[in-house]
Amino acid sequence: MDNNLVVYNTLTRKKELFEPLNPPFVGMYVCGPTVYSDVHLGNCRTFVSFDLIYRYLLHSGYKVRYVRNITDAGHLEGDRDEGDDKFSKKARLEQLEPMEIVQRYTIGFHDVMQLFNTLPPGIEPTATGHIAEQIEMVKEIIKNGYAYESNGTVYFDVEKYSKEYNYTALTNRNIEELLANTRDLGGQGDKKGRLDFALWIKAKPEHIMRWPSPWSWGFPGWHIECSAMSSKYLGETFDIHGGGMDLAATHHTNEIAQSQACHHTHPARYWLHTNMLTVNGTRMSKSAGNGFLPGELFTGNHPLLTRGYSPMTVRFFMLQAHYRSTLDFSNEALEASEKGFRRLMNAIGLLDKLKASEKSDVDIRALKQRCYDAMNDDFNSPVAIAELFEAARMINSINDGKASISADDLEALKSLMNDFIFNILGLREESSPTDDLGQLVEFIINLRLEARANKDYATSDRIRNGLQELGIQLKDSKDGTTWSRI
Ligand SMILES: [Zn+2]
Repeated sequence: MDNNLVVYNTLTRKKELFEPLNPPFVGMYVCGPTVYSDVHLGNCRTFVSFDLIYRYLLHSGYKVRYVRNITDAGHLEGDRDEGDDKFSKKARLEQLEPMEIVQRYTIGFHDVMQLFNTLPPGIEPTATGHIAEQIEMVKEIIKNGYAYESNGTVYFDVEKYSKEYNYTALTNRNIEELLANTRDLGGQGDKKGRLDFALWIKAKPEHIMRWPSPWSWGFPGWHIECSAMSSKYLGETFDIHGGGMDLAATHHTNEIAQSQACHHTHPARYWLHTNMLTVNGTRMSKSAGNGFLPGELFTGNHPLLTRGYSPMTVRFFMLQAHYRSTLDFSNEALEASEKGFRRLMNAIGLLDKLKASEKSDVDIRALKQRCYDAMNDDFNSPVAIAELFEAARMINSINDGKASISADDLEALKSLMNDFIFNILGLREESSPTDDLGQLVEFIINLRLEARANKDYATSDRIRNGLQELGIQLKDSKDGTTWSRI
């Protein structure tokens, strides 16, 4: 086991040596999706980043219990206990049961995660499956004096908590400023303090998802589920807590407060956060109209995309940026990643054809060390990938007879490439324009072009629709026709 791993801890704002509480065991909790709509690409980046982290910890010999929850209740439209719950609203709009919404989007989320080749977590608990644990935790927080009930709703008393603990420890904000910037919510008069947040919410008559509790028929606040489920499966203190950077200021800050108020201990030793996505330099968001869904990215069905990109191209593209850096989507960058991914796959294909020589004039040991040094430096995948490109150049030179490699070095190079490309970066071979399927699809595309040239649009449409049914999407542009798997 490698114990040179250094991780950036949001809590201490510095890189620290990673020392698990009970090696070789590692407990890792990552905040999962809220399943009321298709999973957002920003979330996908977070889960691909933690998949890289999970894979590298496993590769390093740790036995990791990876817990990633599904939020299927309690997440209100405003993150500060305002508005409707997202499931009930969507259910009303689509005339479905809230649990039908949950089921539909949970399946959709798993499908996308599989396309990205992420390993499933060891436990994927749901908020609705852990109502009893959440109620017990709320009771304990009330008993310890950090929460109060008001008309059937229970609030966390941030002011009381702040007297003994540093409420804003995770983001290092000034609590006075925070107070000044927090709106005094009209109609939320049950709260004592402006920063107080709900642990349990009394259901309005029209609210469908509701459970009995000592305080009211209602539902849990959003933050309590992660505290209840992480402590249930990983213990009161565990090693890694992860999520998107946007969760740090409220959700994770409140998780820490709840755990301290309940167990008198900090829940996680290392807090890891992934950065956001931008598109052509501006922040990706639904309202700005530049937020595409994974499916749109794969098929190219979005005004900002000139064509579709395969899931492995997108995964590779994501890993070419460090998880704490912003990641900018552009057609040029995706195209460059597609070429880079193919270059690595071609190198892998050449490896088996290489002939060993008596002597090596390549230094595999140093290359391997540089790859591990990169990953041990806070999972620096872009640097590791740059080293793999160096390896690909080496493989091409050997193949061209411009360099030589010994049998031992060749074995070491094969295992290095396999370990990094498939096990750690989690890439996998895909069909491409150069393989059998690719050649067949190109052949069919040319038939369709001929049909169109003859103004036989019925045949052209039949070909397009037939391929679509087989999971192959065609996209026409001024440069010709491209295809991608759906
Ligand atoms: Zn969470």
